[in-house]
Formats: sequence, structure tokens, C-alpha cells
Amino acid sequence: MSRVSIVKVAGRNRAQVAAGVRQAIELAGGMADLIRPGMTVMIKPNMVAPPPSADSGACTSPLVCQAVADAVKDLGARPIIAESSARGADTEAAYRIMGYEELRRQGYEVIDLKQDKTVQVKLAGGHVLTEITTFELVTQMDAIISVPILKTHDQGQVTLALKNLKGLVVDGDKRRIHQLGMFEGAVDLVGHFKPVFAVVDAILGQEGMGPLLGIPVEMGLVLAGRDLVAVDAIGGRIMGFAPDEVPITRVAAERGLGTLDESRIQVVGERVEAVRRRFVRCEEDDRIDSEGIKVIHSEGTCTGCRNGLLSSLFDMQAAGTLERARGTTVIAGPTPFPEGIPQEMLVSVGSCSLPEAKRLLRYVRGCPPNNVDIIRALLADEGEAK
Ligand code: SF4
Repeated sequence: MSRVSIVKVAGRNRAQVAAGVRQAIELAGGMADLIRPGMTVMIKPNMVAPPPSADSGACTSPLVCQAVADAVKDLGARPIIAESSARGADTEAAYRIMGYEELRRQGYEVIDLKQDKTVQVKLAGGHVLTEITTFELVTQMDAIISVPILKTHDQGQVTLALKNLKGLVVDGDKRRIHQLGMFEGAVDLVGHFKPVFAVVDAILGQEGMGPLLGIPVEMGLVLAGRDLVAVDAIGGRIMGFAPDEVPITRVAAERGLGTLDESRIQVVGERVEAVRRRFVRCEEDDRIDSEGIKVIHSEGTCTGCRNGLLSSLFDMQAAGTLERARGTTVIAGPTPFPEGIPQEMLVSVGSCSLPEAKRLLRYVRGCPPNNVDIIRALLADEGEAK
């Protein structure tokens, strides 16, 4: 039987978050048998990219990481908070917006993995990855704790404790995982890195166009457990997703990395039914479609282009220029041409676009492309699009 705790947090100040995290860890069985004195333990938040604000629900709260770090210290181990944001995204900027600088001032170690040395390692038993490039620090850890935030995701339905491990590889491998198959690739990483525990920041999550530009949702919860598949199954269920509807949870369960069978998961603390709230799914968030712009991704389109494109569209919306792009269809990454759309109404973004897409007048190169170039292309300023 796997155990997952759900705890209500009284509020969002440091003491309230610390109390909630501590209770969630204890109810889930504690970490004393996993974290021993002298160990070095990585606390891995989700810092996908610099978020629009600290309250957007895109990135893990520093207060949650701080509370997990304190729990690790209490067991005599050394906690290190470490992350590398999505391909092309600035981890330090994400830390700054979220307030991680304050943790550094208080003496906590907060590391941008993108600035670390890289190391190639073989993956025994990987289904799509046989070798990855990770960071030296990651290879020196005695244990990894995944500390994601509760949110929806444009490819994986949700992103929780399992998918969070993707930040442990270099940008080039993040792209490769998207191209080889994100769900299998992410589960290969879980099988390799073997995180020992998960604490989910479900205090302020995000619905709709996650993982970066969705709509914030106040849930006031923390989840914890040592079976990451079970944690993701229950986290997804709270958002209104059946566990087998979420590809990464399903693939991880099929590979024996944990259980998604709710009859074999003991939920302690709050009941799922008491805290459940159906999250708007990514495809139901029509804030951009309703403006008359169609965005098409394929499985090979990775977070860099997805985020850059959406944030460009939101910038245009804020600037009142989106109307000028009405009727445009944007294809991102290696996405085939949609049928029946005149070429002059198409914009293609990303250096990995297919050859025919690169011949379009409005093709934006870059990996990922700059937002300013995407906006120029959308405004049909063809001369500067490339
Ligand atoms: S061009 Fe875009 S989709 Fe292609 S690899 Fe780069 S960031 Fe990813």
C-alpha cells in the first residue's frame, strides 16, 4: 500500500507553509529512513521559466522548498535546492521573480544547474534514452526530493512529481526528450535518478494553458509521499484527471515505478473528494483561440517554443496588437503544414521547423526564437521576421 498525504495550509506566510509541509511529510510516513545524517540531498523545484509573477502558479514557492530543506537539515543532512529551467529559459530570472534570493540571504544553497559542469551518463534500462547529459552536482547527490507545483500542462495533461525530473538534464537533452517521446523519456529519467520522496506545492496552482501561462488557482494544500506515481495519481485526481488519463503517470506505473491503482493508495489527511476542484484543461483555455489566432504544435515541439509563442501572443494581447494577427495560423517546431490554410496566413516558428515551413515568408528562426521576432512575424512585418 502506498501512502499519500493531503494537508490544508492555514495561509501563505512562512510559518503556515512550514507547518503544512511538516505535517504532510509526517503523515506520509516521514523521511527518517530515507535521509540519513551526512547525506547531501537535492530539493528539485519546478522553475519552468521566468513566470509572469510570483503568484502565477507556474513555479514552486520558495517557502515550500525552504520547509523541505529544513526537514532535511533536521535529519542531519545537507539540502541543496537546484533546478535548470526549460530550454532557452533563464533559471536565475525565475528564481529572482519567485523570491529565492531571500533563501540565499538566509544561507540556503540555491543553485542554477545551467551554470554547473555537465556530465554524460549511461541510462541502464532506458526505453528511449540510453545516454543523457546531466550536471555534475546531480551526480553527487545521495538523494533527490521532487518538489513540483500543482498545474496543468499542454502536452502531459498535468505536470507533477514525475515530470519535474526533466530539469536534471541539459537543454539539448530536453529537446531530445520531446523529439523521442516526452512521456517515455521523462519516465526514463525517473527510473535513472530514483527520487526518494515528493512534496507537492498545491497552495497556489495553475489551470488552463500550463505550464507557464495558465490561470492561478488557490488550493491551499500540500501533498507528500514516497511513491511518486501515487502522488501524481492523487494530485491529478484532485485536479479532475483520472490517473490513467495522464500519460506520464500511466507509463511510470506500467514500468513498475509505483502504483496509480487508487485501491492500493492510502490517502491520509484530507479526503480527495473534500478538496477536489476540476481544473480547466489546457485545450479548454481558449483565451488565444477566441482572438482568432490558431496555434498548432506537434509532439516534437518543446517547451521553449510553446512558452515563447504563447507569451508573445499574451504580450500582443496586452499591447492591443493581437487583433492585427487575426486569422493567422502559427505552427511551432517540427509540425507539418495544416491542410487548407493559404501560405500567406501561416507563420512558422523554431529552428527545427520542417524544410517546407522554413521556406515560408513568415518563418522565425531561433531555438527558441526571440519573442520580438515572433511578434514581428505575426504582425506581418516579413522583412524582419527572420
Ligand atoms: S526550435 Fe523550438 S521546438 Fe525546436 S528544439 Fe528549439 S525550442 Fe524546441
